[in-house]
Amino acid sequence: MLEKNIRFLKGVGPVRAGQLQRLGISTIGDLLLHIPRAWFDRRSAVSIASLVPGTEATVTGEVIHTGERAVRGGRRLFQAVMSDGTGRITLAFFRPRYIRSRLTVGTHLSATGRVEFYGGLSMAHPEMIFHAADTEGTSTDGGVIPVYPLTSGISQGVMRKLVSQALSETSGFLPGVLPRDEIIRCGWDDRHAVFEAVHMPSSPEEGQRARRVLALEELYLYQLLLRRVREEAVSSPAAVLRFDPASAFESFRRTLPFDLTGAQKRVALELLEEMTGSVPMRRLLQGDVGCGKTVVAAAACHACCLSGGQAVVLAPTEVLAAQHMQTFSSLLTPSGQTCRLLTGGTPRGERRELLDGFSMGDPGVLIGTHAVLEEDVALPGLGLLVVDEQHKFGVTQREVLLAGRDPRPHMLVMSATPIPRTLAMTFYGDLDLSVIDEMPPGRGRIRTEIVTSAGRMRVYEFLRQRLKAGERAYIVYPLREATDSVDLHDARSAWETITAGPLGVYGAGLLYGTMRPAEKLEVTRRFAEGKISILVSTTVVEVGLDVPEATVMVVANAERFGLSQLHQLRGRTGRGTSDAWCFLITSEEADVRALTRLETLASTTDGFVIAEKDLQLRGPGQVLGTRQHGLPEFRIADLVSDSDLVARARHLADRAPEDSIPLSEVRWRYGEMPAPGV
Ligand code: ADP
Ligand code: MG
Repeated sequence: MLEKNIRFLKGVGPVRAGQLQRLGISTIGDLLLHIPRAWFDRRSAVSIASLVPGTEATVTGEVIHTGERAVRGGRRLFQAVMSDGTGRITLAFFRPRYIRSRLTVGTHLSATGRVEFYGGLSMAHPEMIFHAADTEGTSTDGGVIPVYPLTSGISQGVMRKLVSQALSETSGFLPGVLPRDEIIRCGWDDRHAVFEAVHMPSSPEEGQRARRVLALEELYLYQLLLRRVREEAVSSPAAVLRFDPASAFESFRRTLPFDLTGAQKRVALELLEEMTGSVPMRRLLQGDVGCGKTVVAAAACHACCLSGGQAVVLAPTEVLAAQHMQTFSSLLTPSGQTCRLLTGGTPRGERRELLDGFSMGDPGVLIGTHAVLEEDVALPGLGLLVVDEQHKFGVTQREVLLAGRDPRPHMLVMSATPIPRTLAMTFYGDLDLSVIDEMPPGRGRIRTEIVTSAGRMRVYEFLRQRLKAGERAYIVYPLREATDSVDLHDARSAWETITAGPLGVYGAGLLYGTMRPAEKLEVTRRFAEGKISILVSTTVVEVGLDVPEATVMVVANAERFGLSQLHQLRGRTGRGTSDAWCFLITSEEADVRALTRLETLASTTDGFVIAEKDLQLRGPGQVLGTRQHGLPEFRIADLVSDSDLVARARHLADRAPEDSIPLSEVRWRYGEMPAPGV
C-alpha cells in the first residue's frame, strides 16, 4: 500500500509527479510521511491592535500595500503591509522570489510569527495561510491547518488535498508497525489514526504528539534493521583463533616502548577474550583523540596472527594508511609478524606479489585504504577486521569484507569522534561498546585561545619561539565543499607568505585534499621526520596524524569549523610530553553565536562534552557526516529533540517477537542499507 505510486492519486499527472519528486515524494507512503512543518491555529488569532512585541502571535487580515528594496549585502527585502481594521503590521521577507507573487494587494491571509517593533509592528518570515486557496482541502471543522514544506508549483491547498486523499485511500489498509500496546499507550487506536492526527490535528499540540509517535516508529524500524544485521552477523560461528588471551597479551606488551594505561589493558584483554570465543566479535572502540586506540588494535592483530590468522586494518586515507603501516610494523615486527600496505597507489607488481601471499592464507596484517575492499583481494584466513575512523566509512563498506563469510571474522571499529550516547545507539546499535577513558600519563597541557584576526601577529611571534625551540606546528585553513579551490588558495597563499617570511627558515610544507597521494605522503613524511617544521594545510590533517613533536595548532577562520572537527584538529597536538597550544583565529565575519561556540572548545578538552554540544548546535548529519557516508537521514525523527525516543525504540525492537517484524516496511524505508537476512 505504502509503496503504491502517487500517480494513482487523482490529480497527479507527470508534471505534478515531477514536482512531488523534488520533495522526495514518489509513493503514497512518502506522502503520508511528508508531515507538516507547523500547524496553524486559526482559533488563536488576535487583533493587530492588541499585539505585544516580543511574543509569538497569529493575525488575520488583508494585504494593503507591498514594496521591495535592496538591502546591505546585495540582498533584496520584500515587505507587505497587512491590515485587519484594528491596525497594521509589516511582513518582511529576504529572498522574496516565491513570496512576491503570492502576497499581492487584496490577498487575505493569516500570519504566525514573532512580533517585533521597528518604528512599527513587523514580523520577519512568518508562517502563512492564504485564505482563498489555502484553506481548500482542509477538514470542515478546520480550526487547525497543517503547513507543509513546499516546492514551487505546489500550494498548501494542493498538498492538503493530496494528503487527505492518501489518508482515505489507506484507511483500513495500513499495516501496523509499532506494537499495538505502544500506540494505545501514546493515546491512539491504530497507526492510521496517528497519521490522521499528524496531518489534521485538533490542536497543534496534538499534531506534535502524533509527530513524536511517528518519530518513534521510524527509530523503531531502524533499530529492527540493526537487530537484523546483528543477528545475521552472529548467525555464523566466529573464525577460529586459538591463543591464550593472557599470554598473547603478555607477549605483545613485552615489546612495547611504554606501559599501557589501565584502560588500554582492560580493553585489550576484553578484545582478546572475545576473539577466542565462538561468537564473532563486533565491537566499537571509543576513546577521545590521543588516548591510544591504535596500540589496542595492534594487540588484537598480534593475537590474530599468533594463531595463524590474517588481519585487515582499514583506514580512510592514504596518509593514515601509511602512518598505520609504520606504527603497526614497529609494534608487530618485534614479535616476528608481517605487515603489508595496500592502497590505490601500490604498484601493480607489488600488489600482485602481496595478494598472492595473502590468497595462499599466509598470516599477517594487511593495512590499507578502500583498495583492500576490491573484489580480487582474497583473504582466506581473515580472522579480524579493524576499521579505523569508523565515521568515514558507511555501514555498507564496513560489512563488505564480512558479509556471507562463514566462519565470520571478528570486527573492531574505532572512532575518534567521541559519539554522544544517543547517536552511538542510533547508528551503531549493532555493535558492542568498549571505551578507553584514560589518557597516557605525562602528556603536556593543551591551552586553547581564541584570537581575533587583529591578534594574528602575536600568534606568529609566539609560533616563531616554539619553532626556534625545535617544536613543530600545523596551520590549518578551512575547506569548504563547493569552494575548495578558493580555500586552497588561502592555504597556498599562506604557505607562500610563510615560506618567504621570517618563519621560512624553519621549512614549511603544503598539504591539501586534491594533491596526489604520493605528494601527500612525501610532505607528511618530511614533517614527521622534522625536515620541515610547519605544515600548512586544509582539514586533511584532521584525521589521525600522529606527530608527537607538534605542539602548536593554528586554525584560521575557526568559526567556519564544527566543534568536533576543531577538537580533532587540536588533538593533533599535545601527543608528546611538552605543553601544546591551539589558537583559533576568527575572522571579522564571525558573529556572537560562533564565538560562543568556540568558547566551549576553549573551556574543555573532553571530547564527549564537545560532541554533545556539537550535536545540539549542528545536528547529527554534520557531526557524523551522514549525508556523505550513506547513513540514514531520518525523515521525521530529529536526533536532537527526539533523542529520548532512541532508547525506547531500542527497547521495543529488542523485544519484538520475530513474527511481528514488519519486514516490508523496514525494506521500504531503509532498502538501500545492507540487510543480509531481511
Ligand atoms: P588515537 O586514540 O587518537 O588514535 P593514537 O593511537 O594515535 O591515538 O595514540 C596517540 C599517541 O600516544 C601515539 O603517539 C602513541 O604512540 C602514544 N601512546 C599510546 N599509548 C600510550 C601509552 N600507554 N603511553 C604513552 N604513549 C602512548
Ligand atoms: Mg587514531
